[in-house]
Amino acid sequence: MLRRTKIIATLGPATDDIEVLERIIAAGADVVRLNFSHGTEASHAQRAKQVREIARANKRPVGVLADLQGPKIRIECFKNGSIELKDGATFTLDAALKSDAGTIDHVGIAYKELPNDTTPGDTLLLDDGRIVFTVERIDGKKIVCKVVMGGMLSDRKGINRQGGGLSANALTDKDRSDIKAAAAFQADYLALSFPRSAADVNEARELFRQAGGKGGIIAKIERTEAIDALEEIIAASDAVMIARGDLGVEMGDAVLPAIQKHIITLARSMNRVVITATQMMESMIHSQIPTRAEVFDVANAVFDGTDAVMLSAETATGEYPDKAISAMDRICREAEKQNVTTKSDHRINTRFERTDEAIAMATMYVANHLSVKAIAALTESGSTPLWMSRISSSIPIYALTHHVETRRKVTLYRGVYPINFEKPNTDHELVNYEALNVLRERKVVEDGDLVLLTKGDLMGKLGGTNVMKIIRVGDVISPKN
Ligand code: PGA
Ligand code: MN
Repeated sequence: MLRRTKIIATLGPATDDIEVLERIIAAGADVVRLNFSHGTEASHAQRAKQVREIARANKRPVGVLADLQGPKIRIECFKNGSIELKDGATFTLDAALKSDAGTIDHVGIAYKELPNDTTPGDTLLLDDGRIVFTVERIDGKKIVCKVVMGGMLSDRKGINRQGGGLSANALTDKDRSDIKAAAAFQADYLALSFPRSAADVNEARELFRQAGGKGGIIAKIERTEAIDALEEIIAASDAVMIARGDLGVEMGDAVLPAIQKHIITLARSMNRVVITATQMMESMIHSQIPTRAEVFDVANAVFDGTDAVMLSAETATGEYPDKAISAMDRICREAEKQNVTTKSDHRINTRFERTDEAIAMATMYVANHLSVKAIAALTESGSTPLWMSRISSSIPIYALTHHVETRRKVTLYRGVYPINFEKPNTDHELVNYEALNVLRERKVVEDGDLVLLTKGDLMGKLGGTNVMKIIRVGDVISPKN
């Protein structure tokens, strides 16, 4: 059985060795994430190139996701790299301090507007909540704080305000430049950090398109404002990421499980893709096996209906990148055997607006009620397999397309597997034969199996799917004979 839930692996120093990169792709990475918070534009372009070469050599498309840094608010640097903060001490965040002049009393901040965005009484969380300050007073460019929870604080750690409300624009100058870089290497997905609204998502999409980017836009849900504008952000995006790291800091960790379930259900009901991210296998940065809690976290995300599960530091800087992927792989496969992942009431009471959408829904109804081995969706843009994959099922959905961009895009869709398919010509009998034949050559079907095939009468037309056929493999005689 193929794994349906997709695995995203973040690249970093731990995967720079080409053999490690080959191993993580062989272990099952469907999409790689290039994290623009680190590295240079040239290093990301180089990694994208390497991934595509390995994918080509293995004849398995791998998606490339460019993740923008966004307006992550950070402290600057200490003279000695780090300090040890005592509970109850006074500490000042100073927008006027030189970037490398931090001491036990104060440190610089990269986001110069922070003193205007905070008021006395605010709670500031540093380093993903490991350090907690309350703001005592604002003194010009200085934010004077009391240390509520101290500890080690080192260079460039992030700052969040509990409850959100920081005014930073979602797209920084660096992001605007990185969007062009991502378009130049044809990223399959562009992830936008800290969007607050649909307008933020639309702006990123416009810039990406202007630069020649064709990939999908992912909105990372990681601030309080995004939860308030959730529906419009999902509607404006191709996919959303539940960015549990920053989101948990702003909203509090205890609300995350309910939010995760809500976002997954809502995104799927709106025909959007959804990624569950951050700390899924955190202990595997240094351990060869996951904790039981991590096993449950990955399986529960699968039960919730996520399209993809993501690894961050586990693969980017961890000691066992390929083992982290293998562990996710086996947990997903096992979770996918449970009934909850194969039964669906999706849109059972809704009306459809489009012919291609109706064909996709009808196909899944048949797939889940007849003994079918596979679905073959002949597709241009990938929208038919996307609709299909919103319905839980155990039947694999093969996206047959000659567009390389579509093959790479569907790597993120749960239960969808891309296959390169050059349509022989416009003869429908011949197309049916060839489509079944590629599945037979891959040994995913054999003579006697039932296959559901969808296509358009006018093949090659975008959104033209208007046919579903139920075909028994072997019954379609090659018109060549
Ligand atoms: P990041 O986003 O890894 O880019 O911070 C994910 C998250 O915040 O969870
Ligand atoms: Mn984040």
